[in-house]
Amino acid sequence: MLNLVLFGPPGAGKGTQAEFLIEKFGLLHVSTGDLLRSEIAANTELGQQAKAFMDKGELVTDEIVIGMIQSLLDSNKDAKGIIFDGFPRTVAQAEALDTLLNNASIPVKGMLSLEVEKEELVKRLLIRGESSGRSDDQDQSIIENRISVYHEKTSPLKDFYKAQDKLYEVEGMGSIEEIAARLCDVVATL
Ligand code: AMP
Repeated sequence: MLNLVLFGPPGAGKGTQAEFLIEKFGLLHVSTGDLLRSEIAANTELGQQAKAFMDKGELVTDEIVIGMIQSLLDSNKDAKGIIFDGFPRTVAQAEALDTLLNNASIPVKGMLSLEVEKEELVKRLLIRGESSGRSDDQDQSIIENRISVYHEKTSPLKDFYKAQDKLYEVEGMGSIEEIAARLCDVVATL
């Protein structure tokens, strides 16, 4: 199984690039943000709990997201591979993912880290907010908070995967097609 972690700060282009990779390599796309937004739309208890964090640009608890990933892995045992988008976001989540995948002998093959400058991130998110209707993309202070949370809690994961020799940093500036080509070149070597 080709399991990949597509990594980067909010606005790095993970969702857009995941679309290219799933098509080219026949992978399953797992975005914890999308899963959480579906729970909110369905007005489930989990969705209501998650919304309180998401509205502020804070992370939802590890317990909630790890539980979602666990049930998703259970129901997709035949997948050719999975692209994790927006997960893991904390060291505890990365450790839980390793345990789940290593127990099933299908470890993460690589972490693809999209590198994008901060001003570009804020610009992209505000533009996305105009069309997506996502409230967390429409308020500059929530966006700034999400980027700080990324630096504080999520970026240490680069060292986590580097220590396993699985970190691949990819330039995330340029056209969508240029970035996709860079990612595909890396994935082809895995
Ligand atoms: P995203 O769609 O990946 O930008 O995620 C939107 C929001 O969902 C984040 O700001 C978090 O509040 C929440 N979220 C998504 N994925 C995770 C995760 N792996 N851990 C904790 N919170 C998450």
